[in-house]
Amino acid sequence: MQKRTSSKFALIFSALVFVAIGIGVFIGARRFIADARLVAHTHEVISRIDEIQSMVLDAESAERGYLLTGSQAYLLDYQMSVERLPLLLAALSKSVPDNPDQLHNATKLKELVNRRLQQIQHVVDIYDAQGLDSARAAINQTAFRTTSAIREQVRTMVEQERELLVERAASSRRSADLLLGLAFAGIPFGLAVVASVYGILLSELRRRSRAEKRAANASQQLAGNLEQIERSSADLQTLGRYTGLLQSCANPEEALEISARTLEALMPNVAGSVYLLRASNDRAENIVSWGTPLIETSAFLVPSDCWAIRRGQPHVIDDLLRDASCPHITRPEAGTSVATACIPMSAQGTQIGFLFLSGAGPGPLPRLNIAESAVEQLSLALSNLRLRESLRLQSIRDPLTGLYNRRYLEESLTREIARCGRRNLPLSVIMLDVDHFKQFNDTHGHGGGDALLAAVGQLLSSRLRGEDIACRYGGEEFTVILPESDSSDALRRAEELRLALSQMSVPLSGKTLPPITASLGVASYPVDGVAGLTLLRKADAALYRAKRSGRNRVAPFDAALDGAG
Ligand code: GH3
Ligand code: MG
Ligand code: MG
Repeated sequence: MQKRTSSKFALIFSALVFVAIGIGVFIGARRFIADARLVAHTHEVISRIDEIQSMVLDAESAERGYLLTGSQAYLLDYQMSVERLPLLLAALSKSVPDNPDQLHNATKLKELVNRRLQQIQHVVDIYDAQGLDSARAAINQTAFRTTSAIREQVRTMVEQERELLVERAASSRRSADLLLGLAFAGIPFGLAVVASVYGILLSELRRRSRAEKRAANASQQLAGNLEQIERSSADLQTLGRYTGLLQSCANPEEALEISARTLEALMPNVAGSVYLLRASNDRAENIVSWGTPLIETSAFLVPSDCWAIRRGQPHVIDDLLRDASCPHITRPEAGTSVATACIPMSAQGTQIGFLFLSGAGPGPLPRLNIAESAVEQLSLALSNLRLRESLRLQSIRDPLTGLYNRRYLEESLTREIARCGRRNLPLSVIMLDVDHFKQFNDTHGHGGGDALLAAVGQLLSSRLRGEDIACRYGGEEFTVILPESDSSDALRRAEELRLALSQMSVPLSGKTLPPITASLGVASYPVDGVAGLTLLRKADAALYRAKRSGRNRVAPFDAALDGAG
């Protein structure tokens, strides 16, 4: 702002300087012209005076010629001078109107000249009337005095004009000097002013271009910031949607699949793998991968093979060729720069696994903070899903034996009967009760009894097919649902279980508990009943008969013998 004002002032100042120089030159030139005109005028006045004097002399010499020769030609010359002189005298008076001295002198000269002309006329008149001698006598001293006076008057006037001439010549010189001075001083000064104005304008221009550049930079930066904000808000939106999706996931597989798709979209040229720690925490397993990795990473690894798991914080590598990487990453080929990041996954203080990312280096990989946010969400989701799964298992499983509980048994039995019924397939139920368990408990304590029950649970789990469902019915009673098994198949498999149970050895506190036996009852769908509760009741009746018949045996339901129609 100040710059702009100063450049405006500089421009005005330089314009004023040039106006002043112009005015100076104008005045100087006018003065010079006026002085020159006056000088010329003085010369003119002098020449007029000279002319008057020479005209007077002409008249006198014509008089003399006439007197001596009597020639009319002289008389004509004289007449001409007499006619011319008044005109010349009038012109002289007119040419000095502004100089009173000279005006006075001119009047005086006029009188003298007139007087002299009268004297000459007088002599000429005498000559014409009385002849030469009388005329000669008439030329007396007065004529001489008048001529001298005229000469003196002319000298005085010319002298005065000469003085004026000197004065005017000096003034003219001064005007010329002024012009010269203006030229010599004004032009360099003007040029200096122009140069300084030019300098000011130049610096102003530079300042403006700098300001424009700054403004351009600022707007570019603003655009960049806007782009970043837009991208960040788009990322946030994606993350928000991702979090929402994670919350609706039914199982870890779904959560991992969604994470893979989201991270692939958020980090386009970055390959990724999610590793999860097994329940025993002894191994991490690559569960899901995406993108095209530039380097390989082991599918299985021990936790100590990853710095992120060891230290519980992200391990970021800008260039695998230069930095020490985790042992689970293979070294890239020479000349290939690869950047990686291992981001640990943990929730509620428990390590879950880690996210492995890799991309073209040298890094760091772009937008790692987004990946970290996503990992945080994924860890939480996985932890919640695990918690939910364990709660669900707790609600349907018996903690001592690991088998399903009675509530789940009843649910499953109804469902499995319906499924087999639709496909016209049989289904059997085995009811199993440990023999003399009260006594076993009394002998080996409640802990011994529990250990035995747990062992029975494990044996049942290991002996069954994938579709069979084993439950702890209560106490030392167990139920097994065998879908698609008819009565004879169920009896055969019940017999196998009985044998296995009788051969089972259970260690406890360094000793082995004595073998036990069990009694089993079998009922089948649809022959013995079509409702779940009916089948359970009939299998229980068959079990009761097996007990009565001496225990350690398998009994099928028999309507006649068991009496429960
Ligand atoms: P039987 O051959 O007639 O089946 O004789 P039993 O002694 O097995 O029969 P009973 O049903 O009278 O005894 C069951 C015992 O099982 C009673 C109880 O002390 C024991 N029991 C029930 N539930 C548990 C359990 O969860 N842990 C332990 N240790 N014992 C249990
Ligand atoms: Mg019992
Ligand atoms: Mg019993």
